[in-house]
Order: sequence, then C-alpha cells, then structure tokens
Amino acid sequence: EAKNGGGNRFCFYQTGMSGFVERRLEIENQLRHAIERDEFKLHYQPVVDLQNNQLRGVEVLLRWHNNELRNPRPDTFIKIAEESGLIVDIGSWVLERACQQIMEWRNSGLPELSVAVNISARQFIEGDIVERVASALKRSGLPAHQLELEITEGLLINDAPTIREIFSALKNLGVRVSLDDFGTGYASLSYLKRYPFDVLKIDRSFVHDINESEDSVTLVNAIIAMAHSFNMKVIAEGVENLQQRRILRERQCDMVQGYLYSPPLNADNFADWVKRYSDIHQAQHV
Ligand code: C2E
Ligand code: MG
Ligand code: MG
Ligand code: MG
Repeated sequence: EAKNGGGNRFCFYQTGMSGFVERRLEIENQLRHAIERDEFKLHYQPVVDLQNNQLRGVEVLLRWHNNELRNPRPDTFIKIAEESGLIVDIGSWVLERACQQIMEWRNSGLPELSVAVNISARQFIEGDIVERVASALKRSGLPAHQLELEITEGLLINDAPTIREIFSALKNLGVRVSLDDFGTGYASLSYLKRYPFDVLKIDRSFVHDINESEDSVTLVNAIIAMAHSFNMKVIAEGVENLQQRRILRERQCDMVQGYLYSPPLNADNFADWVKRYSDIHQAQHV
C-alpha cells in the first residue's frame, strides 16, 4: 500500500492514529469498571537490606487482568488512569488493599514488613490523600511507620505551598515518603532540602550498567553520598545480578530490589517466596 503514493499513505497514517486513539478510549472505558469487576490484582516485590540480606519490605505494583484488552501493562494503563483522573479512586483501592494484605500476612505469622505504595501526582494534589491514607491505616490497623508512599520528582517542580502542607501532614501521620525514579525527572536538587524524604530510590536506568561503566559507578556513588548527607536511606531499583549488588554494597547503598531477588509476585507466591527466603537466610547464619 505504501507504494500507492502520498494520498494513500496519508489515509494509512490516519487509520493508524485512530486505532491508537480507539485503544486509548477503550482502555479508559474499561478502567472505569475495573474495580467493580474485580480485575485489579496487587503484586509484591521484596526489598532487601544490603548489609545483612534481611527482607525489609515490599513494593506494591498494580496489575490489571482484562482479557479483552490483553492485560494492558502498568506503564500504559496507569498513564491513562492519571490523564483521566481515574487514578484517584484506583489509587485508594491500592492503598486499602495493600495495607490489609500486610496485616493478613502479619496475622498469619509472616515477618513484619513495611509496604511501599506508588502515589501519582494527581492523587497527591486532588485526592484528599491525607484522609485516604489515614483511613487505610485505621481500617487495616497497619502502624503508620510501616507504610511508605512513593512519589516522583515531577510532583515537586511547581513547589506549591499546598504540596508542602500535604507533605508535612503525611509526615505528621507517621508514614514515610520516598522519592521514586530518582534521576529521571527534572534536574533541580533544591527540593531535597525542602522536603524531608525518608528514602531515595535510584532509578534502574542508573543501576543497569554499573558493572560495565566506571562513569555510572561514579554517578551512583555521588547519588548515595548526597542522599546520606540528607539523612535519607537509599534503595537501588532494578538490581539483576551479583556484580551490581556487590558494587552497590561497596558504595554503602542501604537496600536493593530487583529480579536478582525476585520479580513482583502475586500474594500467594510472595508469601511462599518469603518463607523460602527466611529459611535460606537463617541457614546461612547457622
Ligand atoms: P516503579 O514505581 O518505578 O516500579 C518499579 C518497576 O520496575 C516495576 O514495573 C517493576 O516490575 C520493575 N522492576 C523491578 N525490578 C526490576 C528489574 O530487576 N529489572 C527490570 N527491568 N525491571 C524491574 P511495573 O510493575 O511494570 O510498574 C511500572 C510503573 O507503574 C511503576 O514504576 C509505577 O510508577 C507505576 N505503578 C505501578 N503500580 C502502581 C500503582 O499502584 N499506583 C501508581 N500510581 N503507579 C503504579
Ligand atoms: Mg515505585
Ligand atoms: Mg513509581
Ligand atoms: Mg521506580
């Protein structure tokens, strides 16, 4: 068809565009019903302490089971949920469900875990985030210090007073706040001194080639030193092999998560993983 000249190519291009727009609309429409149709599931990825290899917590990652749309990936449907505003209610569902799950595990004898939940900018700004967090804690009984909210630097660039107020209200609740995907957003570092983050998460794009590139090691080393000087703990994301782990440990990184330990797992598989991991970990200390 491409040989048929400009007119046809234009038509082809338009069809392609409308296909893209149609899928986007279809995803948005189906997202509206995803909670009531029980199509969301949470997956859990372990976060491990680098100094003693102990399991410290989990990051909660949302999954959407929708056969008709062939299970859209999180990057795709979360972007659409953000643009349409649906993320506010979806995010509350995640928060409630995650806190409940951690308490269920605790009551069934699993070790005490902290839980990190991703929060989109719109949830933070429009969604009564403080009330919703408080209610999730109250309803589940999860102690506030075990909940960590992950936000990205994009939220902070406009530095509105309301954002600072929400931030301190959350800190007053006793929850912890992490800066996610560090290094991928806007290069202003001044917000590190203005916002008391508890944790900085180094984006996996920086971790990816530290075993091949001295420059990357230098960069990651600088990020860790800077975070520590602000009294923040550091988590490296996307750790996939032992060399990366060794370098991060040498550079005093506090915690890691990544496929080296485990991909995100559904609740049952995660509970199994924890039991196996604790056995191996205890065996190493005998
Ligand atoms: P994120 O918060 O940075 O989450 C980490 C992502 O890295 C996850 O992708 C995880 O599966 C992936 N990952 C973990 N370890 C490795 C590794 O060793 N190698 C590689 N290549 N990847 C690894 P996922 O689950 O596809 O989620 C993508 C993004 O979607 C998340 O990035 C987060 O920004 C967003 N997201 C996921 N769940 C939620 C949610 O409940 N609410 C909100 N607002 N956003 C969410
Ligand atoms: Mg995250
Ligand atoms: Mg995130
Ligand atoms: Mg991240």
